[in-house]
Amino acid sequence: MNKKTQLIHGGQTTDAYTGAVTTPIYQTSTYMQDEIGELRQGYEYSRTANPTRSALEGLIADLEQGSYGFAFGSGMAAISAVMMLLDKDDHLLINSDVYGGTYRALTKVFTRFGIKADFIDTTNIDAIEQYIKPETKMLFIETPSNPLLRVTDIKRASEIAQKHNLISVVDNTFMTPYFQNPLTFGMDIVLHSATKYLGGHSDVVSGLVVTSDANLAERLGFIQNSTGGVLGPQDSYLLVRGIKTLGLRMEQIQRNTLAIIEMLQQHKAVKQVFHPSIVDHLNHDIHEAQSDGHTGVVAFEVADIAHAKKVISKSQYFTLAESLGAVESLISVPALMTHASIPKDVREKEGIADGLIRLSVGIEDTQDLVEDLEQSLNALDN
Ligand SMILES: *Cc1c(COP(=O)(O)O)cnc(C)c1O
Repeated sequence: MNKKTQLIHGGQTTDAYTGAVTTPIYQTSTYMQDEIGELRQGYEYSRTANPTRSALEGLIADLEQGSYGFAFGSGMAAISAVMMLLDKDDHLLINSDVYGGTYRALTKVFTRFGIKADFIDTTNIDAIEQYIKPETKMLFIETPSNPLLRVTDIKRASEIAQKHNLISVVDNTFMTPYFQNPLTFGMDIVLHSATKYLGGHSDVVSGLVVTSDANLAERLGFIQNSTGGVLGPQDSYLLVRGIKTLGLRMEQIQRNTLAIIEMLQQHKAVKQVFHPSIVDHLNHDIHEAQSDGHTGVVAFEVADIAHAKKVISKSQYFTLAESLGAVESLISVPALMTHASIPKDVREKEGIADGLIRLSVGIEDTQDLVEDLEQSLNALDN
């Protein structure tokens, strides 16, 4: 089954009981038992399982070419559940430009439970092994990363993890299962902030986890049920609905993104453009080999903060907001917004200049977006 068909026919999103074509919203917390312990369809209590959530979990498992899916109340709840696979005194390796919320959870919460993390440059895959200690139990990567779209080699990362018996995890939020399937390269776990492209309409906060490993699945299911950060039936329904158009959206987003990049690369007010589609972007070839397309997140640098602010104020179709991955185009300045909590010198060392602008390209008309951004940049010359 090709991907666009799988978005519609993957999982089991029709209702076995009534024949309803779309997943019904089973807005119930508990289920009647015919006799004590005799459950009609295996459902007992909705923290443990709910049919609407099960439909979504089966769908995302199929889309990621895995066997077991888990839906959580946010991307961070999903990431936290994965971190709970670790024990006290365990250590994990993670890319240094990881999502800020993941960094915060590890350095402010999980550290209190004795889990230690080293934040390293994973773009240089051969350098990873030197950081592995006897207590290292997990390798966690995001590729491409935020906001500079740094690419890590998924296959090599999974080989290193296997060799050293580490649980390997990819945060696949930026790529979506439509464009990249880390499990097919041997990774153990793939996860998403489904708040972004999977939901796609800026109306749901959710996280998804998929694995093919029965043992990890059993542990994740136990953690999900025990700690309880589950997704409700209404939001599960919205995600199943959003996912149906993921392919259409990603293709329009990719078309728009590539056209915008072409304009940006030629504009004299733009110092540099960051995107894995660019031939001289670090690890461009690796990205091409491990994915089927491109994210709509793109970053570019103008002279300074004043210029960045001016571009934002002049643009009409790019809404000033954090987040990414929805139908509407968004614009932000990482140094003042998503990455403001990182000290300026650390930020600059990571390559996040004050004049860096991040776009999340939406599904609007290609020409409208290109012209809008171009006229905003033209205003800088005056
Ligand atoms: C947004 C995001 C998260 C966190 O997801 P929430 O749904 O906001 O909790 C994690 N990873 C990446 C790459 C993200 O963009």
